[in-house]
Amino acid sequence: MLLKELSEAVGVSGHEGAVREVILHAIKARVDEHHVDALGNLIALKKGYGGQRRKVMIAAHMDEVGLMIVRIEKEGSLRFRPVGGIDERVLLAKKVLIGDKKVPGVIGSKPVHLLEPRQRQQVIRVEDMSIDIGASNQEDAANLVKVGDYASFDVAYRVLGGELQAVTGKAFDDRAGCAVLVELLKNTYPFDLYAVFTVEEEVGLRGAKVAAYSVAPDVGFALEGTICDDMPKQKDASPTTVVGKGPAITIMDRSIIADKRLVDLLVTAAEEKRIPYQFKQPGIGGTDAGAMHLSREGVPSVVVAVPARYIHSPVCLLSLKDLRNTVGLMNQALARLDAVDLSR
Ligand SMILES: [Zn+2]
Repeated sequence: MLLKELSEAVGVSGHEGAVREVILHAIKARVDEHHVDALGNLIALKKGYGGQRRKVMIAAHMDEVGLMIVRIEKEGSLRFRPVGGIDERVLLAKKVLIGDKKVPGVIGSKPVHLLEPRQRQQVIRVEDMSIDIGASNQEDAANLVKVGDYASFDVAYRVLGGELQAVTGKAFDDRAGCAVLVELLKNTYPFDLYAVFTVEEEVGLRGAKVAAYSVAPDVGFALEGTICDDMPKQKDASPTTVVGKGPAITIMDRSIIADKRLVDLLVTAAEEKRIPYQFKQPGIGGTDAGAMHLSREGVPSVVVAVPARYIHSPVCLLSLKDLRNTVGLMNQALARLDAVDLSR
């Protein structure tokens, strides 16, 4: 399963090389051309058939949230800062891997026995945490890691029981989107498909911005592993997305108001082929489509996502049914895309 390989590869923003290798290996035989641009985006072209061909860019980001080492303390522990949006409360006592050499470590925490009652109520700030790699002093630590090294969560992919066909692993945001995009490259389309595996989405949609400029597409799709908060709660009626209810189509988030014609295309395709789908609750999050639709003179764009619980934490959960239905929905929508009039 490619999702396992993608999930276990390390690709903290700015260091996506290992993920790119996995993807390149998987798509090489399926595309006509590919290159890596100056920022590290992998841009692959699958030429279409027919005469007047549109350029369709489908983006999925390779990077994941993680940590960066900023200081090695005298006694050998490592100070760090987050790369991308991470909730500090999920960090304590987590296993991490540091740098290209994957030096193992653990984010230190004070034993519960020693906490004052008041401290139990507090969130420990990232500035007050450190990573323990078992080094005896600064010099010992410096032999293993350097300031500027990145760290990722050390989490293996797992298959769970139950009807959701759920799996857990790290970085399903956005390795789920990468897995879907790799699948889509099995087919040929009447348009030129630019499959773009982007870098640095988690720190501000940076890779997609330059990739969209160079591809100059007529239409844009972003594939995501998106926010899901469908677990029981006391109050609140509208979850962002629900696991097992199919691909989530974005109408509006913080980065884009999706092109209505593309939203309609996806909905029609889903309903005709009886593929389950849901709308992501408007207004939350941002994706590469945010950068794509503002490229050059504007690009009609939309987002389709696999719902994933607990994203931006060490471990996420998604349903393989949702993943397959996302591939199915995109296949159906892309087959009908040429019939959509994108003129104004
Ligand atoms: Zn994402």
